[in-house]
Amino acid sequence: MSEVSNKYKDMWERLELDLPAHDQLLGVLGQFYNDIYLSQQGRLMGMEYLDFVLSEVHGLRIQELMEAKAQGRKVVGTFCVFVPEELVLAAGAVCVGLCAGAEAGYPQAEAYLPRNTCALIKSFFGFRLAGLCPFTNASDLIVGETTCDGKKKAYEIFGEMAPLYVMEVPQTKGRAARELFKAEVLKFKQKMEEISGQAITAQALGQAIRLVNRKRRVLQRLTKLRAAEPSPISGRDALLINQVAFYDDPERFCGAIEKLCDEMEGRVQAGQGVTPPGAKRLLMSGCPMAVPNWKLPFVVEGAGAVIVGEESCIGTRSTRELVDETAIDLPAMIEALVDRYMKIDCACFTPNGERLDNIVKLARELGADGVVHYALQFCQPYGIEAQRVRQRLQQEGIPLLRIETDYSMEDVELLKNRVEAFVEMLG
Ligand code: SF4
Ligand code: SF4
Repeated sequence: MSEVSNKYKDMWERLELDLPAHDQLLGVLGQFYNDIYLSQQGRLMGMEYLDFVLSEVHGLRIQELMEAKAQGRKVVGTFCVFVPEELVLAAGAVCVGLCAGAEAGYPQAEAYLPRNTCALIKSFFGFRLAGLCPFTNASDLIVGETTCDGKKKAYEIFGEMAPLYVMEVPQTKGRAARELFKAEVLKFKQKMEEISGQAITAQALGQAIRLVNRKRRVLQRLTKLRAAEPSPISGRDALLINQVAFYDDPERFCGAIEKLCDEMEGRVQAGQGVTPPGAKRLLMSGCPMAVPNWKLPFVVEGAGAVIVGEESCIGTRSTRELVDETAIDLPAMIEALVDRYMKIDCACFTPNGERLDNIVKLARELGADGVVHYALQFCQPYGIEAQRVRQRLQQEGIPLLRIETDYSMEDVELLKNRVEAFVEMLG
């Protein structure tokens, strides 16, 4: 057993992890991280912070969560950017995104779910059943949402194995849908007050709104800096920053990424980048890539291209819109939250023309030469919406590569061939 494992063994045991299986997972992830991340040339110095966070993701960060719990704070795990983090923070709780980006635990998950369930759903089931995820096990409440059918039905079973609360998310954007979502936001506020034993005040919610907006602003700054040619950061590193945003302490995260953006600005002014001038610039668009799902970015950048943006929930879909900070009382703040969250353009909505506009706008702003549309296998919302994306990008003259894949490494060679052919086609 490694040194890190020995250091946190008692804590993991208390969290009922399967220690041998967990140790094996950390070993595989460490190797994967070395190959995909640490092997990159010319990384920003500020990435050392991210390397440290990743190396301690199941250690120090979990220890912090356990300390927060010992002080009476609750830990709330979420799977979707529809869950208002502001209400969690305003109730004095800690909000963590639960990842679900690996195949570990699939055999256990498939005892409950059909094999042709999307990888993300099988992964969060598997992590829980195989005792692999300290974030899931440390959560006092896990918040699900009725976005796609797969998640909706899976939560009915997941609720029997974890402390689950499900928020209803509408599938359209009309007035009735907004009312429904507002009622759900109010119900969730009540739930947070109940589990934390603390009333959410206007002052606490105002503070939480400003903090979560600060996190979004710093990520917006990161996105804008990637418009520079050559790009000052690799797509892999930028994805990692967006992933870490979901589980690191928000204040600490903002401080570290603000510094990293200063460093990026210096590079942009000096005309320095991570790829030679002329490297093809690609926008990734589609399903979120949860830790440690780094396969496709690795393949794309291995083909000599550079990823300049992620039109995804672990990317611009969760950072594009801010909550209006001018509201001064609770009812107005709730309205501001509802307005902001109803602008999310997830493929679970119909119709979802906003997303098509947003992809085109982002591709233009970032100077992308093409778009790689990424859907997880068996994800109907993104898999089917890919056709609408194709039509729209054709009209706009933006080349598109459509990829459907999962978390296995079996198709890496095939993906390499397809991506290389696409990059070559871009000329
Ligand atoms: S893609 Fe849709 S369901 Fe998935 S996290 Fe984003 S908003 Fe939620
Ligand atoms: S990737 Fe698609 S099918 Fe899977 S949980 Fe997200 S929206 Fe649902």
